[in-house]
Amino acid sequence: MPEPKMNLRKGAKVWVEDKSLAWVAAEITDLKGKQVQVQTVSAKTVLVLPEKLFPRDADEEEEHGGVDDMTKLTYLNEPGVLYNLERRYALNDIYTYTGSILIAVNPFTKLPHLYNVHMMEQYKGAPFGELSPHVFAVADVSYRAMMNEGRSQSILVSGESGAGKTETTKLIMQYLTFVGGRAAGDDRTVEQQVLESNPLLEAFGNARTVRNDNSSRFGKFVEIQFDANGRISGAAIRTYLLERSRVVQITDPERNYHCFYQLCASGKDAAKYKLAHPSHFHYLNQSRTYELEGVSSAEEYMKTRRAMDIVGISHEDQEAIFCTLAAILHLGNIEFSPGREHDSSVIKDQKSTFHMQMAADLFRCDVNLLLATLSTRTIQTREGSIVKALDCNAAVASRDALAKTVYARLFDWLVDKINMSVGQDPNSHIQIGVLDIYGFECFKHNSFEQFCINFANEKLQQHFNEHVFKMEQDEYRKEEINWSYIEFIDNQDVLDLIEKKPIGIIALLDEACMFPKSTHETFSTKLFQNFRGHSRLERAKFSETDFTVSHYAGKVTYQTDTFLEKNRDYVVVEHCNLLASSKCPFVAGLFPSPPEESSRSSYKFSSVATRFKQQLQALMETLNSTEPHYIRCVKPNSLNRPHKFENLSILHQLRCGGVLEAVRISLAGYPTRRTYSEFVDRFGLLAPEFMDTSYDEKALTEKILRKLNLENFQLGRTKVFLRAGQIGVLDSRRAEV
Ligand code: ATP
Ligand code: MG
Repeated sequence: MPEPKMNLRKGAKVWVEDKSLAWVAAEITDLKGKQVQVQTVSAKTVLVLPEKLFPRDADEEEEHGGVDDMTKLTYLNEPGVLYNLERRYALNDIYTYTGSILIAVNPFTKLPHLYNVHMMEQYKGAPFGELSPHVFAVADVSYRAMMNEGRSQSILVSGESGAGKTETTKLIMQYLTFVGGRAAGDDRTVEQQVLESNPLLEAFGNARTVRNDNSSRFGKFVEIQFDANGRISGAAIRTYLLERSRVVQITDPERNYHCFYQLCASGKDAAKYKLAHPSHFHYLNQSRTYELEGVSSAEEYMKTRRAMDIVGISHEDQEAIFCTLAAILHLGNIEFSPGREHDSSVIKDQKSTFHMQMAADLFRCDVNLLLATLSTRTIQTREGSIVKALDCNAAVASRDALAKTVYARLFDWLVDKINMSVGQDPNSHIQIGVLDIYGFECFKHNSFEQFCINFANEKLQQHFNEHVFKMEQDEYRKEEINWSYIEFIDNQDVLDLIEKKPIGIIALLDEACMFPKSTHETFSTKLFQNFRGHSRLERAKFSETDFTVSHYAGKVTYQTDTFLEKNRDYVVVEHCNLLASSKCPFVAGLFPSPPEESSRSSYKFSSVATRFKQQLQALMETLNSTEPHYIRCVKPNSLNRPHKFENLSILHQLRCGGVLEAVRISLAGYPTRRTYSEFVDRFGLLAPEFMDTSYDEKALTEKILRKLNLENFQLGRTKVFLRAGQIGVLDSRRAEV
């Protein structure tokens, strides 16, 4: 952030950098040549360069509650923003505005007083900013704007895993069904169906991870449609990038998708499918974590069933869904041992034979065809087709690929079913979309998934920048002041690097995936050749193949070794043929038309990244036609505990979520705004000679500013607009009086 010039004097209150706390409060005790001596609140004396200091408002310190909007801070700087959040969080004031952006810090404890019907009633129709910041206020302002302007709205919720996006999204939906719902009591109303789609999608798309016991492993955009009277009349859900690998591979203490554990705990139903405790199944017992704290899988199973009833999934389809889940678990227990012929495999033992039979029965397909599908592959050659045996590893890979494909199709089917059942209102022209999508990720190891996620975040960041910039302009226009010079921040260059055709990272990756001889090495070489000297891309330091992208939120190094494999969305023809032959209409329906036999191989390439890019494009088009509202969720600590506020990680999240960027954009203009009466109240004492001659506060304000030789301020209709740092000058003069 550009720093407003500090007024250096003894006794000035400042923020000083600190390795572990990011910033600590201090006071200037001495000026020593080029350096400044400060004493921190913990009585440490430090010598620092003046440009490392930020001004701190001592008055704010006395108001213990903090301010509910960051733009009300006297000094809109990084430590000020952080400290304000911290003070509010300590009082369970988890919501704070930064202009129109809502920051929500996860309380990690239930706050029922915040979310009851009484609260919803209070926020209904209340002018924005009048009540304490709240997610209901954002939902309400969206609803009002939609009704008054007849324009669709969107609410974009972002934040890292465990920050509270999904909970926030559910609160928004709860509020919208409150203001736009029909008579209460009926289970099958559109709004009930919309609400119940949440537990259903969570059962199949959420799992325990190291970061969050209920982590969404997919992104979602829910559009709630309204009729002309503002009543909910339909809804549509789009989902993005379900994590498929989790179905077959997990590590302790993570879990597979919740629905598997729910089914295992379902008693009679589990027995019907010959299921037992999760520890008996390979897809679940790779991790020894089977239970979730405070959650009963058996009860959750009943809830999922109930959600299915409400959403409108027939009992027959429900049976078929759980039957398919059970089949996947049995499939995972099929093991292979080397066959007599070289590089072939056979079913390992009695136990595996049992599970194979169970899987075939549950899929309602022929057991021999299942075996052939798993242990062989048909290759088309010029001379005709030949059947090639697969070795044990390849057979296991084929088994896992089958499980992943079935699960992914099942998930898509559920989403389609919810959409069909809830229904779209063809007459609705107004809707509110709610986006719950993974925030920016930067881990020690970053792979293809992080690449896609961060690509999505770049797209959303561009949208955000454009919006924040526009909001600033609107405010200036309303106040009739000159705004022509505000600098616009742009990340188009990163987006071009990633998605531009014919040469961008995705295009080069697709090209590599289409050539059988390509490896991640050849892909990386191509990448570095094409982008030599690019300001946003560099080769990683200790590797020939890793690449580093300078994202808006910081640099991320991606490891390319699995990029090609993960970008290839294989549909193995044999898998499709097997399941299309199922006597169960549900299973066969998941695999409608067997893909055409391609002449050379039984694989068909389709690019995961390109499809994701297209989905994002469609999402951006939708978002661009709406008025956006932003909610940034913040995870206060990595232990998921209440009342613990970790400065460094929170600052990082504020940066990734564009909150600091929004502050920066506003610093580039006139970050300090005061109504004329506020200004005169605070600074009138700097020019007492003018005070009794005039009651025109605007004129008084101008006189005071001119007397102090300040330039470049702007006098708006109702407020004075000051450049960064000017308030500091005024304050220090005030301290001298
Ligand atoms: P992921 O990206 O992993 O899906 P997320 O951002 O969706 O994460 P949530 O699942 O919404 O995170 O939240 C994680 C947990 O934090 C919740 O299960 C809940 O315990 C707690 N939590 C989040 N928001 C609130 C809230 N407003 N009040 C109380 N607890 C909350
Ligand atoms: Mg979530």
